[in-house]
Amino acid sequence: MSIPCRPAAPAAALIVTRTGVPVAVRRSRRARRLTLRVDPVTAEAVITVPPSAPSAQVRDFLDRHTGWIAERQAAHPGRIPFVPGNSIPVEGVAYRIEHRPGRGRPVHCGDGVLAVTGPDPACVPRRVHDHLRQRARQRLTDLSRAKAARLPAGARPLTGVTIKDTRSRWGSCSTTGRLSYSWRLIMAPPPVIDYVAAHEVAHLAEMNHGSRFWRLCAALTEGDGEASKTWLKREGMSLHRFG
Ligand SMILES: [Zn+2]
Repeated sequence: MSIPCRPAAPAAALIVTRTGVPVAVRRSRRARRLTLRVDPVTAEAVITVPPSAPSAQVRDFLDRHTGWIAERQAAHPGRIPFVPGNSIPVEGVAYRIEHRPGRGRPVHCGDGVLAVTGPDPACVPRRVHDHLRQRARQRLTDLSRAKAARLPAGARPLTGVTIKDTRSRWGSCSTTGRLSYSWRLIMAPPPVIDYVAAHEVAHLAEMNHGSRFWRLCAALTEGDGEASKTWLKREGMSLHRFG
């Protein structure tokens, strides 16, 4: 069994507003009120509603917010591919991608520039992707090992770290002691990366989200874990725009 930090959202029903815009409706037991958002990756409008909210109330709410949805979707920034000229965050700092013809270090990240050296500019996106993935593997493996060494006796040993590309979770922990992380975390600020590693490592000792788990998670976190959780909730999905 793996413990998702952000469980995959169940398939949503669709409502079409009076202006013809489809809106995905998610019923959530944790929702206390109607919340409308526009997905930062897909530009899809999504409304989260408490299970008891009548459909008429949802429809009425959407009809009053068609202007807001249209505005947000029009301003949707879209995808930011890994091509020269675009800026991307690496460990929370912005770097402008540049292509340098010739020979040299294949990828160099410094002074606000992520330089990719090689004969063909067409290989830049692949190289940037590989570089970030490799950097994510290194950073998350180091963090996981260091934190696992601080676990109390009786915790499952850390058996390995896998880097994946998942949308529904930033990390997970298997019963065999293997931790998985999204490579996109390497774009987040360092305290956020640290928090996700602390969270998954804490699952090696506590395979649940009980109070003992949260105490251990806080002890393994270097920065402000609550701020990192908030960052992931508010900004996390924006990392999926890149690449
Ligand atoms: Zn968890």
